[in-house]
Amino acid sequence: MSQEATRQERRAWQLPPVGGNPSSSAQGTSPGSFAARARIGSPIPFGSPDAPGMPAPSERTAWDFMPPDWKCLDGRWVPPAGFAPVTQLEFARLGHVTPQMRRVSEREPHLTPEQVRDEVAAGRMVIPANPDHLRFALDPMCIGRAGRTKINANMGASPVASGTGEEVEKLRWAERWGADTVMDLSTGGDLDATREAILRAARVPIGTVPIYSMIIGRRIEDLDERLVLDALEHQAQQGVDYFTIHAGLLREHLPLVRRRLIGIVSRGGSLLAKWMIEHGRQNLMYELWDEICQVMRRHDVVHSIGDGLRPGGLADATDDAQLSELSVQGELTARAWRHGCQVMTEGPGHVPFDQIEYNMKLQRQLCHGAPFYVLGPLVTDIFPGYDHITSAIGATAAGYHGASMLCYVTPKEHLGLPKKDDVKQGCIAYKIAAHAADVALGIPGARDRDDELTRARAALNWERHFELSFDPDTARAFHDEDLDVDTDFCAMCGHDWCSVRISREIQEFASGKDPRFAWEGPRVSAALSEPQRAILESRGVLEPAELDRLATKTRRAMGASRGAKAECHSDRASADVAHRLQDERLDPVTLEPIASQAP
Ligand code: SF4
Repeated sequence: MSQEATRQERRAWQLPPVGGNPSSSAQGTSPGSFAARARIGSPIPFGSPDAPGMPAPSERTAWDFMPPDWKCLDGRWVPPAGFAPVTQLEFARLGHVTPQMRRVSEREPHLTPEQVRDEVAAGRMVIPANPDHLRFALDPMCIGRAGRTKINANMGASPVASGTGEEVEKLRWAERWGADTVMDLSTGGDLDATREAILRAARVPIGTVPIYSMIIGRRIEDLDERLVLDALEHQAQQGVDYFTIHAGLLREHLPLVRRRLIGIVSRGGSLLAKWMIEHGRQNLMYELWDEICQVMRRHDVVHSIGDGLRPGGLADATDDAQLSELSVQGELTARAWRHGCQVMTEGPGHVPFDQIEYNMKLQRQLCHGAPFYVLGPLVTDIFPGYDHITSAIGATAAGYHGASMLCYVTPKEHLGLPKKDDVKQGCIAYKIAAHAADVALGIPGARDRDDELTRARAALNWERHFELSFDPDTARAFHDEDLDVDTDFCAMCGHDWCSVRISREIQEFASGKDPRFAWEGPRVSAALSEPQRAILESRGVLEPAELDRLATKTRRAMGASRGAKAECHSDRASADVAHRLQDERLDPVTLEPIASQAP
């Protein structure tokens, strides 16, 4: 029997059907994604297979909830005379491809502009791009399961911490670390000025929970219809791209909360519950829904229908309170679509891992495919200080099973207001979750960078390895903490035990074959940059003298004392002179000062 026949004989496994390869060049030996092939334009524009017993997708879309004065003639919807489209949904219903849809297609190359339009028309995708925000720096993006998974970063001053300047800095920081949208949840300081400053600076869509500004300087009991509509109009005119409004929490849901371990954990939800009890009336946001929709349609502000009854602990997940509100969120989605508004709905929260798929697929059914925007969910409650990790695990599952946007959770969750580094940690945890979901779903091209990095790793090409890393400074700093020589192994296993190096030596299986990744031989890495030095300082492993040595390699060669500019700095030398000095004084391989030239 031939070797191949023996191998086939011994093959005791059978792969499931493969939906496609998430790498555009299908490199490597992976069979590809086990998710089903996405059917863009259908109720299943993403491919995770349903476990038995999961709710089926809704048979209806936004096309089934048209404004009452539109007529369907020969299969085409016709608005009343004099109608002028305002929202992305209305343009899509009329068959127009807007500049925003084109931009989304550029940013999501696996989708054509027409597919983007059709997903928006079906209500499965939203483009949060208030025209008043587009006047500033907003770069349009989409939220919808046919596109890549998005992440949101929350920020905002509280009554006890932070201010406008700090919040704008956090916005920049969140954008730097990949936030696709940012929510300004300020409850302290000058809310109006902070919001204005954030909108002017933001390249990403900005969301708010408008009830926060409605109750500044007054008690929740004093909230009335006029205050609600005026505040919405004002924020819409400022350019806010999406509003979270907790209109799905009804008076009749409140008794369902009594048996919960932790009651109502949503700020907006708890405030409105108090208002209902004080007034003995239905939720005024629910009763005002049509008027709210009219304001939001005028400015194309996207609905992000809040989940005031999201579970705040595993013990309260998937209970009647949560699902009753979800059902009303579905009703409100349909009503908003009839007004021409774009809609997404918000979801939990804290959910045991095994219940996540059900939660995602029930929303898909009850809200007729409108994008789901979830907070986490956290899959365990006993790791305060690490909830960016507990929730990123849940968020990966949520993305895979249908959520379109994942709201980050930082290490400070439940404990305090996130600072700059918490924002970075939260964003990175959620970029990992979103990217892992996209790869698993087989979104075309999603795995390309992973494959590039694998090639660089196989070739022991450290520079390329760091360049392709999501956080190159941390990768470089961690590497240099142990070994500041780019050699054919690292300090984890050392020379003799480095399997990648050994694999390169076994010619039959040699890794790092691609000449673009060829390893040039050992060289001393460049001096640490300031961010890299700060990373190592915060770890406290290296002595200050050693850190100084790593950070000053080039500076010493160039005759600069600490704090002073080197002789080759562009302020002191032309580019030609700078190159000549560097050539003369630095060893081209080691980047160490050449002994005779060093000052
Ligand atoms: S030494 Fe170990 S961890 Fe480092 S590159 Fe080699 S195999 Fe990888």
